[in-house]
Amino acid sequence: SNDYRVVVFGAGGVGKSSLVLRFVKGTFRESYIPTIEDTYRQVISCNKNICTLQITDTTGSHQFPAMQRLSISKGHAFILVYSITSRQSLEELRPIWEVIREIKGNEMEFPIMLVGNKCDESDAREVQSSYGEAQAKAWKCNFMETSAKTNHNVKELFQELLNMEKNR
Ligand code: GDP
Ligand code: MG
Repeated sequence: SNDYRVVVFGAGGVGKSSLVLRFVKGTFRESYIPTIEDTYRQVISCNKNICTLQITDTTGSHQFPAMQRLSISKGHAFILVYSITSRQSLEELRPIWEVIREIKGNEMEFPIMLVGNKCDESDAREVQSSYGEAQAKAWKCNFMETSAKTNHNVKELFQELLNMEKNR
């Protein structure tokens, strides 16, 4: 099919919805509105074809396990988001990474991007870039730091996922 389904995971408050809204709508808001689960669709060109990029913005770590497994089964690519201002938020990604590996198999041919968001908040940084990078390497995923607030690396993040898909 011409559907490319990307699922965004991460603890509450790390900026999942902000990244998705920045990419899809070009907007950013300072207030925090907890998400139920939202899916956004965008028609894009990939491999000289038209396809639908479907981005699912999840509730975070407290998603029901059955829903989590369903979104993983249906997903083609995954964005695992933590905040560079919270070491804890990076640690909270481990169980979800383990479930992805369990469901998708060990070869991990499905693109996964580990994303350290809020990189504009350098004064409050708790996770060094090198640490994020090392974690990504251990998890066999790509790595990027972003800011939904300043729009740093947001387009690049989704572009990179699409490139990873083409190269597999
Ligand atoms: P989610 O629970 O992961 O979906 O997080 P949200 O996208 O709702 O964002 C949580 C809070 O962090 C909100 O107050 C956002 O304004 C803020 N936020 C999100 N992304 C960034 C960012 O890149 N930099 C900064 N400074 N704040 C951000
Ligand atoms: Mg949200």
